[in-house]
Amino acid sequence: MVDLYGQYLRHKEEIDLAMQEVISSTAFIKGPDVQSFQEELAAYMGVEHCIACGNGTDALQVAMMALDLQPGDEVITTPFTFIATIEVISLLKLTPVLVDVEPGTFNLDPEKLQVALSEKTRAIVPVHLFGQAADMNRILEFAGRHNLFVIEDNAQAIGAAYRLADGSTKIAGALGHIGCTSFFPSKDLGAYGDGGALFTNDLDLGQKIRSMTNHGMTKRYHYDHVGVNSRLDTIQAAILRIKLRHLDAYNQARQKVAAAYDAAFTTIPELQVPVRNQDSEHIFHQYTLQVNNGSRDALRDFLKAHDIPAMVYYPVPLHLQAAYQQLGYQEGDFPVTEALCKKVISLPVHTEMEEDQLVHIIDTVQKFFSK
Ligand SMILES: *Cc1c(COP(=O)(O)O)cnc(C)c1O
Repeated sequence: MVDLYGQYLRHKEEIDLAMQEVISSTAFIKGPDVQSFQEELAAYMGVEHCIACGNGTDALQVAMMALDLQPGDEVITTPFTFIATIEVISLLKLTPVLVDVEPGTFNLDPEKLQVALSEKTRAIVPVHLFGQAADMNRILEFAGRHNLFVIEDNAQAIGAAYRLADGSTKIAGALGHIGCTSFFPSKDLGAYGDGGALFTNDLDLGQKIRSMTNHGMTKRYHYDHVGVNSRLDTIQAAILRIKLRHLDAYNQARQKVAAAYDAAFTTIPELQVPVRNQDSEHIFHQYTLQVNNGSRDALRDFLKAHDIPAMVYYPVPLHLQAAYQQLGYQEGDFPVTEALCKKVISLPVHTEMEEDQLVHIIDTVQKFFSK
């Protein structure tokens, strides 16, 4: 699905040197590269504060802790996302309240927010799935009207530009009260291990988040909050500094692959190519087709037989996962998500895609549907 080694070879000299420098300095934790990376990423995102942490899941957890959400508070998100989103809500003894997604964009359907709202609702967690932002204009408007926090799960859309209702443009992850991202190796800005970050424009929140990712420490050995130990290693920061300079080029490379797929697949009646949110750029963390004639699994097997690693994100909606049965949801509660889990298939899309690989994938998909 991705070619991390091929991408490494492009930057090998620079990355090897940067890693070697960290090792020689032995500043493995909180080394100068961490501070520099935070500053550079904040500038890229157009936010005041960027706080690096151990992974994207921790970023979401710390965001909810920093906003002082309390057990029993309700947090609205969708059942069509990676497990981390709902996991941290549950770990903090908050109550996840799920709403269905839009059938085209796969993102939280703002139409469904009103029904999910209660006296206990404190926050919304839109997930910018597969590379494009959710309908943030409507989500932010709703949140503002009801005094709710917005925590963006931006693990999959870092760098996607978003047009706000006032005509200005910001980057996904810089739109809510707190934005969260992941540097898991296969993410669009991937480290060589785990990593994550939080973004905010609020000074107090920024300070609280910084403290909370470091055991809640404010002054050395003085703890004002119950925190966690969640840091980005200096080696990862050094690598990410190099890769950040190429992030826009990475995103453009995936957009090029997506455009070629679109051109080839729009004419296949059994397929729905990715639908764009009109206000969001799509950076194609995944290129996800909907197979509308029930042959998704057969297509996946056919691709596999031709050495093409297609994936299903996600095969089981979160509300039907064994670990989350106590939430009390049932099959039928989120029909759009449930249908998508049976229809979606993601094709390889990455920064190192060669023309012959692309042609092979396109030919194979076309061959399957012309049978
Ligand atoms: C990857 C991902 C996360 C979690 O990030 P980790 O760094 O793996 O903890 C959270 N939400 C979404 C939507 C993701 O894709």
